Amino acid sequence: MIRTALLLCAGLLAALCFACAPGGPGPTIHSKLADCPTGQPFANRVYDLAVTTPLFNAVQYANCDAVNGCPSPVPQRGNQSAYAGVIKAAFDLAPVFFQNQLCSLDTIYIVTDPNLQGTNPTVWGMRERARSLKKHVAISSKILSDPNIQGPTAKWPSPYAYWETQLLFSLLGQPVSGLQYASTDVRESTAVLDILAHEMGHIIWWDQDVVSKTYGGYFFYNFSWRNAFPPVTRRFHDFAVQDDHNAPVGPDLKKIRNDLRGNDPNTVSDLLKIYDRQSVAGTVYSEWPSLFATVSPDEDFVETFKMWVLTYDDANMPTMTGLTSSQVQIPTVAQPIDMIQHFQNNAVLTNKRGWIVNRLTWQY
Ligand SMILES: [Zn+2]
Repeated sequence: MIRTALLLCAGLLAALCFACAPGGPGPTIHSKLADCPTGQPFANRVYDLAVTTPLFNAVQYANCDAVNGCPSPVPQRGNQSAYAGVIKAAFDLAPVFFQNQLCSLDTIYIVTDPNLQGTNPTVWGMRERARSLKKHVAISSKILSDPNIQGPTAKWPSPYAYWETQLLFSLLGQPVSGLQYASTDVRESTAVLDILAHEMGHIIWWDQDVVSKTYGGYFFYNFSWRNAFPPVTRRFHDFAVQDDHNAPVGPDLKKIRNDLRGNDPNTVSDLLKIYDRQSVAGTVYSEWPSLFATVSPDEDFVETFKMWVLTYDDANMPTMTGLTSSQVQIPTVAQPIDMIQHFQNNAVLTNKRGWIVNRLTWQY
């Protein structure tokens, strides 16, 4: 019912969309932070994850309510990280509302130990239930030491496009010839900010109780999901696991994986439905910030939030230059899909962004 109302709104009465579903460009941001206003300087919160006995295990720890009895020890700071400058550079690129989120982190862990790398995901974000909701983000040094992330290379002129393409292939479980991101953005910091914004988005999902909030009569998941019940979010969201309790509009990651496995002739049209447009009840929309967003309502929120962080650009502040170039090339399709254009000018995606901007709490 709500979905139907939204479709009518977006399809027939675009001018009234603000009344029935929030949208708009959001507030003007006036200044950026040179550093966090309270607590440790941001660069001094970046540490190697300590090698302990037993080893820290992010999945185990995320499911513990208390330190006592938890099979994983608490995460501990080792040496100050050699990547502190790289993480601080991403902080410097971020818009102020996201800088303030980053300043709420206790620690940014860099996972350098091969055994810790082998037993943990390559990136994660956590709001620690076992220790008063202390927040941290972790990134494997394998990612940060990758030459294609560190700067433009002959094969990958954009670290951001490289990272998004690797993410895509990891989601699909295989590289797909002719499918990739492209961008003119050559900054390492954009790729690192991409990683931080995704993981921070998961923390914000819990921190601001996104699932139970409404704005303009809509839950966030009403935009692109046809759930009969509110989504139940897993405590630790394993990478690329489609949550079958949720019902996305149109094809999702699982469908694309099956398409590829079966060499389905609809593979390209399904990819176009996700990245470009699909017809829903006779009206054409683009719904998704990425394929990743089709996995579950929280990933949809996280990827939409990430796009807002990355693309935030204030014409009055020349030093604040967000991502302005992101295209997805789909095999056999001549024209790449302009994801920035979709994010800024598409009714459903723009309304999702508007929901996040207007309903949640941000510090500018
Ligand atoms: Zn995620």
